[in-house]
Amino acid sequence: MSFTLHGLGVSGGIAIGQAHLISQATLEVSHMVIAPRLVEKEIARFEAAITRVREEFATMKNSVGNSPADIGAFIDLHMMLLSDPELSEVPKQIIRERRCNAEWALVQQMEVLVAQFEQIDDVYLRERSYDVRQVVERVVRELVGRPTNPSFKSVKGIKGENVILVAHDLSPSDVMAFKDQHFASFVTDVGGATSHTAILARGMGIPAILGLHNARQLIRDKETLIVDGTRGVLIVNPDVRVLEEYELKKGQFELERSKLRLLKTARATTLDKVKIDLLANIEEPEDVEAVLESGADGVGLFRTEFIFLGRGDMPSEDEQFEAYRKAVKGMDGRPITIRTFDLGNDKNLHSDIDEDRRRDNPALGLRSIRLSLSEPKTFQAQLRAILRVSKLGKVKILIPMMSHAHQIDQTLAALEQAKSSLRGERVAFDENIEIGGMIEVPAAALAVGMFLRRLHFVSIGTNDLIQYTLAIDRSDEQVAYLYDPLHPAVLMLLSHVISSAEKANIPVSMCGEMAGDPALTRLLLGMGLRQFSMYPAQIPAVKQRVKQSDISLLTPVVRRMLRMEESGRLQEQLERLNAFVPGVYV
Ligand code: PEP
Ligand code: MG
Repeated sequence: MSFTLHGLGVSGGIAIGQAHLISQATLEVSHMVIAPRLVEKEIARFEAAITRVREEFATMKNSVGNSPADIGAFIDLHMMLLSDPELSEVPKQIIRERRCNAEWALVQQMEVLVAQFEQIDDVYLRERSYDVRQVVERVVRELVGRPTNPSFKSVKGIKGENVILVAHDLSPSDVMAFKDQHFASFVTDVGGATSHTAILARGMGIPAILGLHNARQLIRDKETLIVDGTRGVLIVNPDVRVLEEYELKKGQFELERSKLRLLKTARATTLDKVKIDLLANIEEPEDVEAVLESGADGVGLFRTEFIFLGRGDMPSEDEQFEAYRKAVKGMDGRPITIRTFDLGNDKNLHSDIDEDRRRDNPALGLRSIRLSLSEPKTFQAQLRAILRVSKLGKVKILIPMMSHAHQIDQTLAALEQAKSSLRGERVAFDENIEIGGMIEVPAAALAVGMFLRRLHFVSIGTNDLIQYTLAIDRSDEQVAYLYDPLHPAVLMLLSHVISSAEKANIPVSMCGEMAGDPALTRLLLGMGLRQFSMYPAQIPAVKQRVKQSDISLLTPVVRRMLRMEESGRLQEQLERLNAFVPGVYV
């Protein structure tokens, strides 16, 4: 049966392939023996989880609305399985008799049921073992008390040009774990358009859709999928006609991309002869190849924390030196801006410790430079590693998420300390290395003067700046519709930062996702931005837009736009601005 799901298309393009469901690892449960006095409590915990999942199914059933009847029938089947005493009662007996913890009891019973299903000759009935697993997985997730990330183990070993990963959620470290394997695409139930998972998809240049809500539940392994990452549409089991139509669209998309690649060696200069710097964002040294391929002028943002995600401990100075050396050498004299660790929130090195430390609002907690300053030894190791590679190329340092003058001063003092320790050891480094700060907290944007007076450059991180200005969690698909780069407050902050930097004669760049969106290029040029840093695959499209723009004509229009107070009107005006043909097209 063919059906269509809609989500957030976070990385453009079309993929056609087979579904590979990523296990939630929830079935790898802990095994504990419960004290006799706690048995009834454990049963109550089990019952509460069953009730919550039943409610979840009921909500899902209401929300599928006019979707094809089969989706409703599918949810009904899961509700029925959940209510079957084999799943809802027998595990309670196991808890009582064997004093197992609830999740272990449930998984034991599941194994018995799955084995029974697998004995059945009828293919349809045999496949229901799959539904049993899915229902159990959901209950276990409730018991564990948090949506669990998929298991790396389930990812390893699969490979294929036509594999489409389907997961409830993928953390940035999950995506990093399978980055070097060749997948056609991935889709998830949760996640926002500027979440780090989405950013990684764009970096890998593969189509992806997030925020599909129930995809993991509705799709089966090996079903044929079409992922339209541009429109956020996922088609499950398409018929032959639709398949042919999308094969054609895929071909056209790839043709467009290859045409844009012809711009690789062209200069990014506007019609009125203003040279624009187009730089690339990278996550690991291996990305340098894509940077060179894209024709970027350099690396504007190296998110160093990604190299070490999920590995369990802090990398040593030498390990870091080696990773940074590879990237700097690869850039072969082109500038490379290395950002210090932006850990915490959704990016963690050691999940257990971080789980303990995790607070209700991790995005507002001990993350990024706050974490670095609270761990001086680790910070020194990173600064020393960056300084040591500064002799090998054109290296700059970028500090994320500062908001207070004392953080800037402390950071500068830490850099001085790292420099002086290297001098003591007679290790060479670039004495004039430039250090910049990211502007990604509204306080930093409003009080940008304190950055401009102390640092060599600033770089605007619009992903976090929008998150914090509009109080929208960038990873949460439920509020994704409120995440608005055209909100007047966001534009006011951007304009203030860009014009203040220009007045102070301090270079300003933008490295958030806004910089890589060709629909916003003219707006940003009109605001005065001259340095853009984005995922490499996007450089040709932005370059083409730059080459079709005349800044002297754009600037007065953009100035008027900045006085508008409604996103809707701004959007209309932006469309007009983008339709405007000031001269010859490339
Ligand atoms: C940003 O916040 O815009 C940014 C570039 O940093 P990150 O996406 O890594 O948080
Ligand atoms: Mg950021």
